Amino acid sequence: MKEILLCKYGEVVLKGLNKSYFENLMVHELTARLAKVGDFAIRHAQSTIYVEPQDEFITSADMDLAVEEAAHVFGIVMIHRAYVVEKDMDAIRAALRELAPTLVAGAKTFKGDAKRSDKRFPLNSMDLMAEVGAAVLESCPYMKVDVKHPDVTVRVEIRDTNAYIHAGGVKGAGGLPTGSSGHAMLLLSGGIDSPVAGYMMAKRGAGMEAVHFESFPYTSERAREKVLELARLVSVWCGKIKVHVASLTHVQEELKRACNEEYFTLLLRRCMMRSASRIAKEHACLALVTGESLGQVASQTMHALSVTDAVVDRPVFRPCIGMDKEEIVALARHIGTFETSILPYEDCCTVFTPRHPKTKPEMEKVEAEEAKLDLAALEDEVVASVHTYVFKYGEMVPQRPMNEEA
Ligand code: ATP
Ligand code: MG
Repeated sequence: MKEILLCKYGEVVLKGLNKSYFENLMVHELTARLAKVGDFAIRHAQSTIYVEPQDEFITSADMDLAVEEAAHVFGIVMIHRAYVVEKDMDAIRAALRELAPTLVAGAKTFKGDAKRSDKRFPLNSMDLMAEVGAAVLESCPYMKVDVKHPDVTVRVEIRDTNAYIHAGGVKGAGGLPTGSSGHAMLLLSGGIDSPVAGYMMAKRGAGMEAVHFESFPYTSERAREKVLELARLVSVWCGKIKVHVASLTHVQEELKRACNEEYFTLLLRRCMMRSASRIAKEHACLALVTGESLGQVASQTMHALSVTDAVVDRPVFRPCIGMDKEEIVALARHIGTFETSILPYEDCCTVFTPRHPKTKPEMEKVEAEEAKLDLAALEDEVVASVHTYVFKYGEMVPQRPMNEEA
């Protein structure tokens, strides 16, 4: 019997006149991801995306892969592998009897469920549910009905052209389709928090780019490789991510030479934010994203955050701001970045760290420290030093020579 995927979406269902804009983005994303699995026709109708294999070469293992890919598409909340049946009650009964042993395999209790999107179908949802229960019990008399806590729910959906039968499903990634909320520039370090922050904003529909600041030779080639690996892992979720790697070496040496050590981290963070804003502007990113969490370290107090925010010309999103470390770690494990994040390579923030950083900095004093340097010239150097890498769906995209845009 022919199998397809039915992908259900969450929040997008509530969108008004522009709903099809969001649906088309999800169809586009699925099409790009499934191209490597096989030939599928992908369309949306009745608040569901249909993924139909187009030839007999698509195996059951390919369908599993397709489900796995669909589970990474933001906007989708549930994926069902469903059997396609003629919209006729005799055909549905026969299919249910044939499929029941497979659908309830490993379960002791079940519930019959039904949804009639096509109101012209003669049986209503209640009658259909009774039919599902009866057909399953007929072919699997050892099964027990449990409508409150069933091990498995066998469902029939009567839709536009066909009826569909499925049992269970795989949870989708949720959120809003990639790219539906504009583009944002993630400040990506090698730590646990910033990859999580990037994932969270991508989940809300932001297309992601990233900037990473390094301080070679104080930071190593391996530290850069670690950050690129994190970006690759984030791209499994957000689709495409460009990573701009910029050098802060000269800035850090100048800060160390000329400025009061207590302000060192703050001055560095302001410099990062200013440079990131400029790189964001160049790449049409409307917001910055960081992995800060309130009070986690000296540079993440309210005082310190207001001092760093004062230098940026666009919104700064900090999705981890109200999260505890354990919650961030749980998400890092879920998205697959945790094990890489804890590899012990240095970050530019951890070289030249002050012994007693200011937790309640005063703006005038920060500005007085900055006045000791030609920051504009130093930041020009930072922006000019950018090297760009591109990752797509978990793979690095080879770059053309001369660091051209991909
Ligand atoms: P993370 O785990 O994300 O590294 P953290 O708790 O170590 O965060 P900080 O080192 O204070 O915190 O950095 C705060 C935020 O600043 C990071 O979440 C990240 O967004 C940004 N950031 C820090 N270091 C860098 C860097 N080298 N390049 C780009 N952004 C950075
Ligand atoms: Mg860090």
